[in-house]
Amino acid sequence: MEDKFERQIDYLRVSVTDRCNLRCFYCMPEEGIELKTHEEILSYEELYNIIKSATELGFKKIRLTGGEPLVRKGIVNFIEKLHQLEIDDLALTTNGILLSKYAADLKAAGLDRVNISLDTLQSDKFREITCSENYSLSDVMKGIKEAQRVGLTPIKLNVVLIRGVNDNEIEDFARLTIDSELIVRFIEVMPLGNNYDWVKEKHISITKVKEELNQFDSLIPAEEGVGNGPAKYYRFSKAAGKIGFISPISDHYCPSCNRIRLTADGFLKSCLMADKELNIKKAIRSESQADGLKKVLKQSILAKPKQGLGDEISADFESNKRLMSQIGG
Ligand code: SAM
Ligand code: SF4
Repeated sequence: MEDKFERQIDYLRVSVTDRCNLRCFYCMPEEGIELKTHEEILSYEELYNIIKSATELGFKKIRLTGGEPLVRKGIVNFIEKLHQLEIDDLALTTNGILLSKYAADLKAAGLDRVNISLDTLQSDKFREITCSENYSLSDVMKGIKEAQRVGLTPIKLNVVLIRGVNDNEIEDFARLTIDSELIVRFIEVMPLGNNYDWVKEKHISITKVKEELNQFDSLIPAEEGVGNGPAKYYRFSKAAGKIGFISPISDHYCPSCNRIRLTADGFLKSCLMADKELNIKKAIRSESQADGLKKVLKQSILAKPKQGLGDEISADFESNKRLMSQIGG
């Protein structure tokens, strides 16, 4: 489907849970968030019906996210069911903690690939960033290896850049692409919820990161590959992998936006940066389901603002202030 600004919208990001086994300090408060009740969260059957309607409207790419999608019980069976739909790219974004346990089953169920979020390659810092005592960097590293072994590829490693936290590891991350087919993506931290002042202080511009990496070795523009999202790709000469840059702040990617988002509690977000959302749960829990779902999906596509921070207001839209963990990235 096309939106009002002639963008093809064929990508649905689906948050399957608001729960997470980590507490990355820039994403979720250490004490956690007020979790939705079981009844508030869409069931797998409801998620399946919404995704099926989306594929019938022409959505070709589906990404499962969270919270942490691998903490929701039954995720492998759910993916097996989704695999029967007409989806070109079925992917999942994870913190990687449970990936060594699930990678083989996820692959067998029909998942195409994973994106793994990792903001540091240092064990102590990993504990600090994720505020976690139960899990460690080595869990994620094992997860990456297992995902590579079973072929959940190409694997994209997402690194959110934060001044004073991981800006001294940019080269270390980039080096990972030399011998392995990993795609390391540097992402500018985004303002969401109430963290605008904090983000201003901690933001690192992708332009600066490119300058730093170009001193290490020349960055050569590379093919986009799978995903067709907001990242711009480069590689070092002789490198097996690639480096991607996602700069929501220093370089607006809105003109090429191809997605809408479904939250775990059943709201459609036309734009990551807009608070206004459509309640699709109401449609799915009413009687005339199938038509209703398509209608709300279309309404969400047509409400996409030209540029982030847009506020598409009509009586059907509700205003919800969410953290990233409640949206899914
Ligand atoms: N738990 C999974 C994970 O960490 O990959 C999936 C959900 S998480 C919300 C998705 C992505 O959002 C992660 O890569 C995380 O680093 C990113 N994220 C969270 N808060 C962010 C922010 N304020 N700016 C940019 N990225 C953010
Ligand atoms: Fe959890 Fe992912 Fe947010 Fe970290 S970034 S707290 S792993 S949802």
